[in-house]
Amino acid sequence: MAQAYVSKRVVSPSGTWPAALVVEGGVIRAVCRREELAALGVADEDVRDFGDLAILPGLVDTHMHINEPGRTEWEGFYTATRAAAAGGYTTLIDMPLNCLPETTTVAALEAKRRAASAQCFVDWMSWGGAVADNQQHIFPLAHAGVPGYKCFLIYPGCDGFTMIDQQQLEASLPAIAETGLPLLVHAELAGPIDAAMAGLHDADWRRYATYLASRPDEAELQAIRLMIRLCREYKFRLHIVHLATAEALDVLRAARAEGLPITVESCPHYLHFFAEQIADGATLFKCAPPIRSRANRELLWQGLRDGIIDMIVTDHSPCPPAMKRTEEGRFDLAWGGIASLSVALPVIWSECRVRGFSLNDLARWMSNAPASLAGIDDQAGALAAGREANFVVFDPEATFTVEAERLHYRHAVSPYLRETLHGVVHATYLRGAAVFHNGALTNTPRGRELALS
Ligand SMILES: [Zn+2]
Repeated sequence: MAQAYVSKRVVSPSGTWPAALVVEGGVIRAVCRREELAALGVADEDVRDFGDLAILPGLVDTHMHINEPGRTEWEGFYTATRAAAAGGYTTLIDMPLNCLPETTTVAALEAKRRAASAQCFVDWMSWGGAVADNQQHIFPLAHAGVPGYKCFLIYPGCDGFTMIDQQQLEASLPAIAETGLPLLVHAELAGPIDAAMAGLHDADWRRYATYLASRPDEAELQAIRLMIRLCREYKFRLHIVHLATAEALDVLRAARAEGLPITVESCPHYLHFFAEQIADGATLFKCAPPIRSRANRELLWQGLRDGIIDMIVTDHSPCPPAMKRTEEGRFDLAWGGIASLSVALPVIWSECRVRGFSLNDLARWMSNAPASLAGIDDQAGALAAGREANFVVFDPEATFTVEAERLHYRHAVSPYLRETLHGVVHATYLRGAAVFHNGALTNTPRGRELALS
């Protein structure tokens, strides 16, 4: 039996308008005017009217780290998917490096599937890894259902997931190109970082300026130039993860103008924080590449405006609190990673408001574009007939202060704590069922692994 969800602001691909979502069997059957509901057989008692609250498509996060199996004390499917539901996300795509075994073989993917079983509150998938020595696993991983591959051009911080050098990468690229799946690249090269480090022997590692100097823009720029050359030669789908330097926008613009199949993401922490505000010793802000200057942040927003940056994904990367070394405050010793699944939507909406961006921009960057990167845009990523009924009921005008109890992931560690943000997630629906409503999470894990169709 069909149900309808009505709002004055339904954020659909054709714009934001007063509309009704007609949902049947967990799927959106129609997006129509309220007056059309009777003709579609929806009874008045099956209409839920959200009034002025906006309805957004469920967010899709293609860059996050669940850490299970193997490092479940860092995060896990249960806690990450609950944080996601509270944050308006209905689909998560897990990175292959922090779990044990790392997702570089089909056997490891199967281990992750067993670990995820029956404890997910939203849908999920897993990227495969492209590492130094797993060339023979590229095709099997595609057949087993990964939506693409992730590689690191620099030491990734976990010993078991090896970085890949140019020669090793070139041994994998023909296979990756043949799968048609994207290659997601952590684009920093060691050369400029090693050169910078040589000048920092006596530096004070409690200073944020020291950490920032240790990971220069040039490391990103050189890596992106290398990947563009390889993309031109091997014709695979290239995706640059967590772009932090605006200095690369020009080369990316030129590469796209040339017609190369390149997409780019940035993350809430690069679009919200800036280096000048980070206190010395404040290791909660450590991530790689680093959060750069305020002027750089504004240029990243311009990159979004210009369509050079396609999407905003979280890079939710938690760790046990002790690993952030907040007592010593040393940026060289602290784990790099910022967790933000439960607050990314209001963080980005707060920034959108002051720059004149709309709910449609938000939906494109945080739902449509990531869904198409992962090849699931026929199932998720928009409020349109035939898609899963995944949606967020969102109050764009309300404000709240970030408190630990709102975070829901395993360890309530966050540089966003005590910030006041615009935009409150009122409810999150997965296939037509509320998984989060008025601050409360459901107890029924209805999430499942998505498959490419
Ligand atoms: Zn990451």
